[in-house]
Amino acid sequence: MSEHRARLATASGAAKPRRVPVRTCVVCREQVDKRALTRLVRRVDGVYVDPSGKQPGRGAYLCDSAACWEKAASGDVLAKALRTTLTPEDRDRIRNHKAAP
Ligand SMILES: [Zn+2]
Repeated sequence: MSEHRARLATASGAAKPRRVPVRTCVVCREQVDKRALTRLVRRVDGVYVDPSGKQPGRGAYLCDSAACWEKAASGDVLAKALRTTLTPEDRDRIRNHKAAP
């Protein structure tokens, strides 16, 4: 009896396998396709935008929302995610990256 029920549950939960990696925006906590996010990386000399997503170091992701970038640049949520503090230069760099075309 119980075996039959278990099999039904498995069949109904069948979904197409998806290989899209998902990351969480550190500001809005939205889970987004990794390709739609921009990685920021903590380096010894500060926090930098990492468009390649491949730089070594502690990374955090931001979604495409200008509000999230502004909050990341002005608040401390990004600093907390990267376990560092943002210098004024870091904040300018982050703000300018999003403002650039
Ligand atoms: Zn966001």
